[in-house]
Amino acid sequence: MQPIRTFNVSAQLPPSLEPLRKLAYNLHWDWNVETKDLFRRLDRDLWESSRHNPVLLLSTISQARLAEVAEDEGFIAQMERASRQLDDYLKERTWYRKNRGKGDTNECYAYFCAEYGLTHCLPIYSGGLGVLAGDHLKSASDLGLPLVAVGLLYQEGYFAQYLNADGWQQERYPINDFYNMPLHLERNPDGSEMRISVDYPGRTVYARIWRVQVGTVSLYLLDTNIEPNGPYDHDITDELYGGDLDMRIHQEIMLGIGGVRALKALGIKPTVFHLNEGHSAFLILERIRLLIQEDGLSFAEAKQVALATQIFTTHTPVSAGFDLFPPDKAMYYVGHYAGIFGLTKEEFLALGRENTGDLQSPFSMAALALKTASLTNGVSALHGQVSREMFHGLWPNLPMNEVPITSITNGVHARSVVAKSNQELYDRYLGPSWSDKGPEDPLWERISSIPDEELWRNHQACRSEMVMSVRERLQFHLRDRGATPAELEKAREVLDPSILTIGFARRFATYKRANLFLRDMERIKKIMTGNKERQVQFVISGKAHPKDTPGKELIRQIIHTIREAGIGDRVVFVPNYDIHIARLMVSGCDIWLNTPRRPREASGTSGMKAAMNGVMNLSILDGWWDEADYVRTGWPIGHGEEYDNPDYEDEVEANSLYDLLEQEVVSLFYDRDQEKIPRGWVAKMKDAIRLNCPMFNTSRMLRDYAMNGYFPAHERYLAMTEGTYKPAKDLASWKERLFEHWFDIKIEDVDIAAPNDLVVNQSIPVKTRINLAGLTADDVQVELYKGSVNGNGQIVDAETVVMDYQGTDAHKCSIYTADVNYSASGLQGLSLRVLPKHDNLSSPYEPGLVLWA
Ligand SMILES: *Cc1c(COP(=O)(O)O)cnc(C)c1O
Repeated sequence: MQPIRTFNVSAQLPPSLEPLRKLAYNLHWDWNVETKDLFRRLDRDLWESSRHNPVLLLSTISQARLAEVAEDEGFIAQMERASRQLDDYLKERTWYRKNRGKGDTNECYAYFCAEYGLTHCLPIYSGGLGVLAGDHLKSASDLGLPLVAVGLLYQEGYFAQYLNADGWQQERYPINDFYNMPLHLERNPDGSEMRISVDYPGRTVYARIWRVQVGTVSLYLLDTNIEPNGPYDHDITDELYGGDLDMRIHQEIMLGIGGVRALKALGIKPTVFHLNEGHSAFLILERIRLLIQEDGLSFAEAKQVALATQIFTTHTPVSAGFDLFPPDKAMYYVGHYAGIFGLTKEEFLALGRENTGDLQSPFSMAALALKTASLTNGVSALHGQVSREMFHGLWPNLPMNEVPITSITNGVHARSVVAKSNQELYDRYLGPSWSDKGPEDPLWERISSIPDEELWRNHQACRSEMVMSVRERLQFHLRDRGATPAELEKAREVLDPSILTIGFARRFATYKRANLFLRDMERIKKIMTGNKERQVQFVISGKAHPKDTPGKELIRQIIHTIREAGIGDRVVFVPNYDIHIARLMVSGCDIWLNTPRRPREASGTSGMKAAMNGVMNLSILDGWWDEADYVRTGWPIGHGEEYDNPDYEDEVEANSLYDLLEQEVVSLFYDRDQEKIPRGWVAKMKDAIRLNCPMFNTSRMLRDYAMNGYFPAHERYLAMTEGTYKPAKDLASWKERLFEHWFDIKIEDVDIAAPNDLVVNQSIPVKTRINLAGLTADDVQVELYKGSVNGNGQIVDAETVVMDYQGTDAHKCSIYTADVNYSASGLQGLSLRVLPKHDNLSSPYEPGLVLWA
């Protein structure tokens, strides 16, 4: 039955409990143990059944219970403390104030992502990318950065996973009830819903805007599930990564173009745009359109402004991972922007093509983002390198290591992932600021003052809590699928809360090789149960993407292998991996296992969460682990090898994993002293916390983004927009002149006055004559490029030396000189190159022009 009218009925709170409403609607509670405790205390069962949703809790709790706590002085005192903490927190913004000195009140960074993993009751994420984005917002809030975020509000959210009796993954899509979630609907001053509209082929689609308050950061989520949108358009924000390619492009148009319009409707004027992965790259089209139509810039000028203020973070280590649209499809959906920009079809498509000469090649969201960003970064040092190789085609004239893609290694939000009892321990011994402190802070030395007994007891309790929760979740799922009483009975007794527990939980993509540890059944069984005093067990969890049949096959295969081997009580698959179970596992396991095929794991973050809880990583050297102190804080599997033969790779790496377990891990865990404390293990736990917590933390990550990304990009914004965009206009016309003359530049000769027998540190004078065609010495930088020569005859580990301009000769050639020397012996090489130079360029590589001698 369709209602003739709908109402949004909100909870009725006694006046003395009003602060609960404020607390419920700011996700700060997700990382504040006191507030979380408060809601749990209000009604433990409802807290659990609502998936830790305080808004739903307040709207379903009985009036009798509310009346009861309104009289409970202890409760009121805790509520007031939490309320004060929130008020104080919202005022702080300490780091930003301290590091941004003069500051500019207009500074604002807009962060775009297709998914956000913030908290258990907001299932609008699928995995690592979303959780990282959620942590980004939390740390931006902690540091007080002026950041707003944009995304889509999915009606169905990401699926809930359950397994049928055969171990085959089934998906169930819970419907999100937005009115009972910590969401605010944005309204116009007259009370009506605020709406934006976006043009799609032949029609207009509308969206309303919901806000999630993440501390001081507002996250705006678009929702198209409204009248008068047609049924297809209702579904644009229905499912995360659902539907076909056409649906994908619909979603990305709404995210990018709709997102920019939503910020405008809200009166927010970002000075910097940060694209977290390429899904939102269409936003560039809308930004350029606005600059053309509202500020009267030309396309070249508008693109210059957009580029100077845009940051792109890529998370994908394989080309196949990027969104690609056939050229005709791209033209069909967003081709009208070509007309506005005054571009031909091919010129327009070139914005999204890596190789602009190939007219068959698809329109790539990553290429679009890369070509319009002044900072592009990968998410670990290794991934930065992989990305430079992957996108070398965009800068074919640059040596690989100079391809302008850097890296900012991911992190996790400490207060969200460290177990409550561990947080209390660190607060007590390190002081409460540990969660934001960098590696250089002396506070980390105080880790050694934590008594071994206390850290170990805490950790044992975390393991027990995880085991209990796993048993509960298993029983819940078994009941759900109508399992027999015998099966339920078994589930009640799986795992042993006192033995060495190895965790593995992440998305079930085949390259992550969740089944690697089961490769040699005899050997792993022996490790697990061969010595009754020194047993080992495994907890596994993770979802396969609904369309990833091999991923689902992998889950089923693992379930079958476990059953056939009769080790179901010691290798347990926990259904429906989510933020909640992740937090239990990363604190309750002893070892965090990760076995991706290097270099497929761009970063990986679950291992960081584990490390912050003092859990050791046992992992292939890939992603973040490759740059961690993997000897002191865990164990590396292999030495960073890459293989051509996957079967051989599996064989070698599984054996290496077994060797480590047999020879090192198990004995370190079980070697106890008289007090039954594994001193060696606890020492390593402390190293894991001390060395990884400050480093692989979104607090450090956000400081990096602020210092290397947001602040400089905002400075460029100010520099570009001064007056009425005069510097941007000047730069755009300078670039035009640059391109006109660049290809006429000629390096006439290079004179290297080196003797045949050169010694280390001997100075070599170099002189060159260059015909700069229509350009001047102010427009270019001439550099010597020197380094040792490798077996392929290439200069490696190069250094550059800027040459000095000495004026022109009689033939109007520009003369440059410099002295170089070599600090290393052996075969050394020298080259010379010309790069563009302009004060307002974000880097000399921005125009993509390099001329080599
Ligand atoms: C941290 C987390 C992830 C990402 O883990 P990876 O190690 O990067 O694969 C995925 N899902 C959830 C629920 C998480 O909490």
